[in-house]
Amino acid sequence: MTSWRNWSGRVRCRPARIATPASEAGLESLLRDVGPESGPVRVAGSGHSFTPLVATDGTMVSLRDLSGIVDHDDATGEATVYAGTTIHDLGPMLADLGLALENQGDIDAQAIAGAVGTGTHGTGADLGSVSTQVSGLRLIGAAGESIDCSAAERPDLFNAARVSFGSLGVLSRLRLKLRPSYRLREKRWNLLFDEALERLDELAAASRHFEFFWFVYGDVVQVKTLEPTGDDTTPEGFSDWLNEMVLENGALWLFSNLCRFIPWLCEPLGRLSGKLGPVSTRVGQSHRIFPSRRLVRFNEMEYAVPRAALPDALREIAAFVRSKRIAVYFPIECRMVAADDIWLSPFYQRDSATIAVHRYAPTDYQIYFDGVEAIFRNHAGRPHWGKLHTLKAGDLAALYPQWQAFCDLRKEMDPSGLFLNPHLRDLFGAQS
Ligand SMILES: Cc1cc2nc3c(=O)[nH]c(=O)nc-3n(C[C@H](O)[C@H](O)[C@H](O)COP(=O)(O)OP(=O)(O)OC[C@H]3O[C@@H](n4cnc5c(N)ncnc54)[C@H](O)[C@@H]3O)c2cc1C
Repeated sequence: MTSWRNWSGRVRCRPARIATPASEAGLESLLRDVGPESGPVRVAGSGHSFTPLVATDGTMVSLRDLSGIVDHDDATGEATVYAGTTIHDLGPMLADLGLALENQGDIDAQAIAGAVGTGTHGTGADLGSVSTQVSGLRLIGAAGESIDCSAAERPDLFNAARVSFGSLGVLSRLRLKLRPSYRLREKRWNLLFDEALERLDELAAASRHFEFFWFVYGDVVQVKTLEPTGDDTTPEGFSDWLNEMVLENGALWLFSNLCRFIPWLCEPLGRLSGKLGPVSTRVGQSHRIFPSRRLVRFNEMEYAVPRAALPDALREIAAFVRSKRIAVYFPIECRMVAADDIWLSPFYQRDSATIAVHRYAPTDYQIYFDGVEAIFRNHAGRPHWGKLHTLKAGDLAALYPQWQAFCDLRKEMDPSGLFLNPHLRDLFGAQS
């Protein structure tokens, strides 16, 4: 028996076994041989989910040895990749082929199947989540059977499987729709909170990628935009190091610890930090510009709300936090994601804004997250599957028009509940 923990340290488990198949044939025979009596089979990506999606006392499967590009097609701009490939490794491999992901989240440590499986997203009013970049996939089912699907081949399964967090089977490979490799210009600047909310539609439409960070006790937001450019890569200089290591990580760590022991400091330090946000520009290959380094560990809740609800939701969060004087220092991150057609995607048939709240990992998040979650729910918010939330089957059925169709398909594919751990049983209200 060995132990496993997620990135934030909140989720820990002791799987009876961690299997690391290095081929699809190995994965198929693993699933053929393992039975439900030996406990749930859960696939781990890079362990960056905050919810106990991966936790098991049975068999944990890691696809770290099933990694790399299977093939690519210059004519369609697609590449098939093994599911265990991390986004970090994928970037340079695709660049060597003259290709790149259309959009990414703000770190690149995830396994591609882990990111796809939870609807991981970056930002961009017209851009979908990473899961929408998948044009085909191979799933290994509970009996070890291998099933290929796409929009043309078993479309229902394709719409269910892209965001299914390992509840239908194990993804072994993904075909990705890519674009020719490109450079991005990143710009960061500060804006008054009220002005950002008033100009939201204009700001979101003006850049391919628009997002902002907001310290809830402050009246300033830190805007970040990314735009494709033909300009040359800027050399990494002292100011890049200053922004990333000192402001985004060093000051965050120092102030988080100060606030942990002297909670009233959250208010003045939050106001100060908002104003200290970096004002900078840099240019680089897309896979180098998208990710940031996140060295300070935290726990996170994120909901997708209808885009028009973002200003009200943020003002309600400000009123809640300030009236209760909640000691929170970490910034709130707001992004844009386009609607899609994936059954359990938080963005299903709805152009969305995402609101992410964080709490320094050693500190208690309960009162803060409970209050904010009530606000998200009032706005018909849908939770990120990999981030903390308290929703159960009944709540989810009301939020997802295809919920029952997904549950029926899941039961058909996995009648013995091989892939269900206690967290997933709660989500699906499943008995078997
Ligand atoms: C610092 C940090 C920054 C983050 N930034 C963002 C962000 O910008 N945008 C965003 O949307 N999210 C973000 N997240 C959340 C993260 O992207 C998701 O939780 C993602 O699922 C983590 O990927 P992973 O490889 O670590 O997967 P894990 O957390 O290990 O697994 C996630 C789910 O995918 C399933 N899975 C993994 N591999 C397979 C497979 N081969 N077949 C079937 N199922 C599989 C697992 O069983 C599990 O259900 C962030 C998380 C952290 C800790």
